[in-house]
Amino acid sequence: MKLDLLVLAAHPDDAELGCAGTIAKHVALGYKVGIVDFTQGELGTRGTIQTREKEAAEAAAIQGVVVRENLKFRDGFFQNDETHQLKVIQSIRKYQPDIVLANAVSDRHSDHGKGASLAFDACFLSGLVKIETRDEQGNAQKPWRPDTIYHYIQSVMIQPDFIVDISDYWDIKLKAIKAFKTQFFDASSDEPETYISKPGFLKMIESRAIEFGHAINTQYGEGYTVRRLPGVKSLFDLL
Ligand SMILES: [Zn+2]
Repeated sequence: MKLDLLVLAAHPDDAELGCAGTIAKHVALGYKVGIVDFTQGELGTRGTIQTREKEAAEAAAIQGVVVRENLKFRDGFFQNDETHQLKVIQSIRKYQPDIVLANAVSDRHSDHGKGASLAFDACFLSGLVKIETRDEQGNAQKPWRPDTIYHYIQSVMIQPDFIVDISDYWDIKLKAIKAFKTQFFDASSDEPETYISKPGFLKMIESRAIEFGHAINTQYGEGYTVRRLPGVKSLFDLL
């Protein structure tokens, strides 16, 4: 199945926090969007692999993505090395996305920067014909290089290179984030409080979306950084 947009994420919930509004918007525009999570988030203080899996599936349905897979890399310890690059290349070649969205280039959690580098390197290597990979049925895969890769912004504030207007999709983003019931603020939970389960965390996510929206004269926005300068077809493509 060919996708238009593939989101690569170190942990289940990274996609929701970083780019759920952009995902929902592009689904509404008719694009096929999928998510490939690298790990099951098994080192998270709250919840379990099973609850995280259920929550990820629910969040995927809320955003309207057509596929969500998990590569089951080791949370906290996966590396940007050949073994992991080949697995990500298999996913890129399987879904042949035109655009890839990936983790923040650097962040509080070291998996995010690692995930960004892994995604970036895999996107390039995936286009090299002499790197041979096989699909789940054992068939040789064709090389595929996405046109471009953009990095969403996570916990640590990074100055974006461009912002997507997600004003009509903020409600979906919040619902998708809250699908991860074990991870974020829940007054009835008796699990230990964490950095992301404090009520202020979701306020920060909303405040940032408002700040990014304000910067482009809309209500809510999601920011991205680029490694290759983006171009526009005409000046009228800019808001
Ligand atoms: Zn994460």
